[in-house]
Amino acid sequence: MAQNGEGKDLKHAEVGHKSLLQSDALFQYILETSVYPREPEPMKELRELTAKHPWNLMTTSADEGQFLSMILKLINAKKTMEIGVYTGYSLLATALALPEDGKILAMDINRENYELGLPIIEKAGVAHKIDFREGPALPVLDQLIEEGTNQGTFDFIFVDADKDNYINYHKRIIELVKVGGLIGYDNTLWGGSVVAPPDAPMRKYVRYYRDFVLELNKALAADPRIEICMLPVGDGITLCRRIS
Ligand code: SAM
Ligand code: CA
Repeated sequence: MAQNGEGKDLKHAEVGHKSLLQSDALFQYILETSVYPREPEPMKELRELTAKHPWNLMTTSADEGQFLSMILKLINAKKTMEIGVYTGYSLLATALALPEDGKILAMDINRENYELGLPIIEKAGVAHKIDFREGPALPVLDQLIEEGTNQGTFDFIFVDADKDNYINYHKRIIELVKVGGLIGYDNTLWGGSVVAPPDAPMRKYVRYYRDFVLELNKALAADPRIEICMLPVGDGITLCRRIS
C-alpha cells in the first residue's frame, strides 16, 4: 500500500461512500440534522425503494438532492435537462423544485430503472414536467442542436451518466444552456480517486473512468465560456455558469 510522508498507510475512499467528508459521523449529522427532517415524503420513499436495488451505489445522495433543489429554486429554473436518471432521485428533486409549468428533458439508456421510481413521481404529481427519452444522450443532444430552436434555452442541465462521454456532452450542452444558465457535472471528484497515487488499489471501473474525470476537470478549468465552482457535495459536483 502507498504511504504518505510520515510513513503512514494511505487509505483510499471507496466510490459508493456517499460523501467525501472524512468523518462518517459528521456526514450522518448533516443528514439527520438538516436533510432527512426536510426531505419531501416522495423523495424519502424513492430513496428507500432505491436502497433495495442492486445498483443503489449510483443514486444521488440525499444531501445532494437537497442541494440541487436549493440551486434550482435560487436560479428560478424552468427549462432543464438531466442526463442519467437511474431510479430518478435527482429527477424527482428537480421536478419538485420546478414551477408547475417547468420542464425536464430526462435521458437514460435504461427505462426499466426509471419505471421503478415512476409510480412515486406520478403520485407526487410532478410527472407531467418530465419528458423521458430512452437511449443514449449524445444523439438526442445532436438532434436538439440540429433543430436550431434549443440553443441557449436551458436554465439548468445536470450531467450524471457515462463519465467517458462528459467531454462530448460538454461540447454540445454548452450550446444548449443559456448564457447565465448552469450546468452541473456530477462525480467530478470520483470517490477521491482523482488524487490517488498510481499504485493505489482501485476497482477496475474506478480506474478506467478516473482518466476521463481528470481530463474533464482540466478542460472545464480552462474553458473561458464558463465560470466554475467545484464542490465536495456527494461525490463532487462542478457547477458551470455559462458566461459567453
Ligand atoms: N441521477 C441519478 C440518480 O439520482 O439516481 C443517477 C444516475 S446513474 C449514476 C447513471 C445513469 O446513466 C445510469 O442510469 C445509466 O443507465 C445512465 N447512462 C449510462 N450511459 C448513458 C448514456 N450514454 N446516455 C444516457 N444515459 C446513460
Ligand atoms: Ca452521481
